[in-house]
Amino acid sequence: MKNFKNELKKFKEFVLDLIFPKECIGCAKEGDYLCQQCLSQIELIKEFYCALCKKPSPWGKICESCAAETKIAAIWVATDYNQKVIQELIHQLKYGYIEEISAILREILLKYLNLNNILTEFSLEKTKAIFIPVPLHKKRLLLRGFNQSELIALQLKEATGIEVSNIIERIKNTQTQINLKRSERQQNVKEAFCLKSNFDNTKKAILIDDVITTGSTLKECAQALYQAGFTEIYGLVIAQRED
Ligand SMILES: [Zn+2]
Ligand SMILES: [Zn+2]
Repeated sequence: MKNFKNELKKFKEFVLDLIFPKECIGCAKEGDYLCQQCLSQIELIKEFYCALCKKPSPWGKICESCAAETKIAAIWVATDYNQKVIQELIHQLKYGYIEEISAILREILLKYLNLNNILTEFSLEKTKAIFIPVPLHKKRLLLRGFNQSELIALQLKEATGIEVSNIIERIKNTQTQINLKRSERQQNVKEAFCLKSNFDNTKKAILIDDVITTGSTLKECAQALYQAGFTEIYGLVIAQRED
């Protein structure tokens, strides 16, 4: 059944490509959603910082003062959301429903991880680590048809061998965080997540999300993981958006 669905999907993509040839989101060149040149022009964040307070911090580790309020050890952010191409890629994935864009986002994340040697530095081997996508609420999942963070995580699995584990459930259908103030964001996602059964809490958890603003969503997910006994929790996101 899964194979049939995949074949059907491929066929659908093939037909759509015939009618609407893919165009590069950056330069409109025909061929792919992002050409190699535009991909190479995406700027990766060079300086490590604590993603919760934005102060410099080695290896993206959560700084000492922020560590008092979260169990996340480090958050790695690959790019700045201010880049037009990044905004457009994420937008087209989430609202244009172009699932193939997750493969482009994987390239960006892999480049970032490899340049900084993060998987090695933190011993995130495939036997020890798991990717955990930040979940959507069931209702939003039904509307969109997929969870963009899960697609990105599945792409990363292909490249690294690290398994994807969908163990967090969003139990509160929170409103979108975009127009909320910092304090409202925290309240909005408070206790919005819980864990499904069947998980291995001896694994190092790498939470995957597309965009980080204040970090309140990742913090709440990490809290749910910590309560379930996970002791090593990280975050990996595509882009930092301004508060
Ligand atoms: Zn291009
Ligand atoms: Zn901090």
